[in-house]
Amino acid sequence: MNIAIVGGGIVGLALGYKLSKVKENKVHVYEKEKEVGFHQSGRNSGVLHCGLAYKPGSLKAKLAVSGIKQMVKYCNDYKINHDVCGKIVVASNEDEAKLLENTAQRGNLNGLKGLKYLNNKELKDREPFVSSHKTLLVPEEGIVDYKGVMISMKENIINSGGNVFLDTKIEKVEEKKNYIYINKNSSVSYNTIIYTTGLQSDINFKKFTNNKLKAKIVPFRGEYYTLEEHAKKLVNHLVYPVGNPKFPFLGVHFTRMINGDREVGPNAVLAFKREGYKNTDISINEMLDYLSYLGFLKFIGKNFLFSLNEFSTSILKSSFLKKTQKLIPDISSSDIKSGPAGVRAQGIDHKGNLMMDFDIKTHKNQIHVINAPSPAATSALSIADYIIKNYIK
Ligand SMILES: Cc1cc2nc3c(=O)[nH]c(=O)nc-3n(C[C@H](O)[C@H](O)[C@H](O)COP(=O)(O)OP(=O)(O)OC[C@H]3O[C@@H](n4cnc5c(N)ncnc54)[C@H](O)[C@@H]3O)c2cc1C
Repeated sequence: MNIAIVGGGIVGLALGYKLSKVKENKVHVYEKEKEVGFHQSGRNSGVLHCGLAYKPGSLKAKLAVSGIKQMVKYCNDYKINHDVCGKIVVASNEDEAKLLENTAQRGNLNGLKGLKYLNNKELKDREPFVSSHKTLLVPEEGIVDYKGVMISMKENIINSGGNVFLDTKIEKVEEKKNYIYINKNSSVSYNTIIYTTGLQSDINFKKFTNNKLKAKIVPFRGEYYTLEEHAKKLVNHLVYPVGNPKFPFLGVHFTRMINGDREVGPNAVLAFKREGYKNTDISINEMLDYLSYLGFLKFIGKNFLFSLNEFSTSILKSSFLKKTQKLIPDISSSDIKSGPAGVRAQGIDHKGNLMMDFDIKTHKNQIHVINAPSPAATSALSIADYIIKNYIK
């Protein structure tokens, strides 16, 4: 079977890796940038999520639980830097403690192992600078070099006889009988084409299927600060706040990166450009596109204060710092410097709700991954299995 995958982020590459292991398949991955993982997959927190807070029974929960196991095995098999170092989730007051208990309950229902509340001594032994009212240890979480994973998947696809074409944007698809030809390269035809195009997924769905979509991808930029060398001691592993279950964003957290850096972030700021990584990046056309979408306006109507608060953390370091001091009160402005940013491709439905689960749509022999935000990097190998099992005939 000839299969084309459009999008060389971690989901497309994981699919390419799995599909190219089958001898009869010929797999071509097309990526518009000059390197793999240039957008979301190469600009994330680098965390392996084990399925703690996701709604039991959801795809996010199921595919994170199996996905982290597969990702850790992949890293062991191909010698990719990772560390299952565990994380703590911190409740700062009694209200948050109740949310933390609900979160732990979800984790137990999702089948997580070893969840336990830490006493003060256990917390201080692990993270001496963290202030907490109640602390949950999640031992199965970890950190990983996702860039390394993607480079390895690319090599594996090529070694199995497939190919990864960089700097190749798919602009045109032609369907003739049961075969698909892409761009002007009509010498190769495909039986199936899978779009894993992240921030462009809704645009590509509409463009290549000529169908309407009752959802839109809205870009939420996540900005990080990096801890200065002298402040690295403030964080040993992963330190998360209790997430607000209304939102798919996990809240500003401290992360030990696999290269030893310490980052804090990301916030979740409505971005003025899909692939814009600075708060000065603006695309008038893209803004008009989502400002004229009723679902987006309904979202803002329901979440105005949240949006404003996140925006303030983008323009005021003091506002960002306040969020971090909830977890580590000793941290000060001189301890952090501006770091990298990523942009989440987050679906909003026509009723103004954030799409909380992964979403996949099909049209003839096209498969479109529409909504694949966090933890899709962790879950990529399981998302690939899910698509192969349920959508590829
Ligand atoms: C700030 C941030 C922090 C996150 N933290 C984590 C985390 O710690 N752990 C975790 O599991 N997940 C995390 N995530 C989520 C995770 O990174 C994403 O869910 C995942 O990377 C999605 O992968 P993808 O392959 O679907 O999309 P992407 O990585 O965005 O890849 C899509 C690719 O498609 C290409 N493309 C688009 N259109 C075309 C076209 N027409 N032709 C050719 N190529 C095209 C793009 O150039 C892009 O490279 C985070 C995300 C962000 C933004």
